[in-house]
Parts: sequence; structure tokens; C-alpha cells
Amino acid sequence: MSDYRNQLAVQRERQLAALREKNGIFEQFTLHCACAMHDKEFRAVFVKRPGAARYAWEKSERIADRSGLPSRGTSHRPNSKTIKVEEADFDFLCEFCGSEGWTLCKCGAFVCGQKKKGNRFQCRASCGREYTTQPLTEVPGSSGHSPAAAIGHLRAKLLRGRRSE
Ligand SMILES: [Zn+2]
Ligand SMILES: [Zn+2]
Repeated sequence: MSDYRNQLAVQRERQLAALREKNGIFEQFTLHCACAMHDKEFRAVFVKRPGAARYAWEKSERIADRSGLPSRGTSHRPNSKTIKVEEADFDFLCEFCGSEGWTLCKCGAFVCGQKKKGNRFQCRASCGREYTTQPLTEVPGSSGHSPAAAIGHLRAKLLRGRRSE
């Protein structure tokens, strides 16, 4: 493909993306996350762009306080959404410490791997759990911005940072 055609394709894709963004029709997936080191929370927002096969990380939003968060044992909320691990690129970094590798802990969040040693995971201070992780196949999150990453019956599992290339 010539550079010119490439450029046209890229340009067209950008225009389409801008249009869709304006119309707000991106498919969105939100993960409730926490930093193991700093014990603070944020939401990682993923979007699936038109024509894309997978969700890609879009932005992270810090959560100011814990009010309104689901308590432990909360079952699925109306906007809860679960995707398969292969459906997204989870190569985002922790908003507070910059580390990667995510573990879905029973405290209700995907917690960064800052305090991890080998496959021995150590959670944030407010949780205090420590255990050996196992691979995760499904990722429970939510379709919107409200924090609703209910963990239901899932055991704590490891979500490795993934890269497409
Ligand atoms: Zn962190
Ligand atoms: Zn925890």
C-alpha cells in the first residue's frame, strides 16, 4: 500500500473516530482498580474503537473517596459487564505508582503488582490479603463510569499486562 493511501486510511479512521466520539457510541468498559503501594483507587476506562477487535486503554480516573463503592459480596449491578481477557489490551500502568500486572482481589478491585513477589501477590494495606495468584480468563467490570466492579464468586486471580505485539 502506498504512503498516500495509508495516510488517507489513517485520516479517514480519525474522522470516523472523532464522529463516533462526538456521538458517544464507543463501546466502553471500566475496571475498578487500586494501587497496592499507595492504597488509592482509580477507574481504568477502556474503549473499543470502531473496527477494532479489542478494547484499548483510554484513560484512568482517580477516585476521590470510597463512598458509593459496592461493598463486598455485592452481586452484579445492572451496568456490570464481563469480558474475556483476550478482548482487551490490559497493558495499562498503575495511576499512582506506575507498575503493571493486575490482580483481582476479594477487596473488590484490580490491584497493581507493586508489592508482588513472583506469583505471590500482596494487596494494599487496607485489605492486607496475601496469596498466590492464578490466571484470569474473564474480567468483571462495568459498561459505564459508575464503580460497579462486583467480583461475585470469582476467586482472586492474576491479570497479566498484555501487549498486542
Ligand atoms: Zn500501584
Ligand atoms: Zn485486596
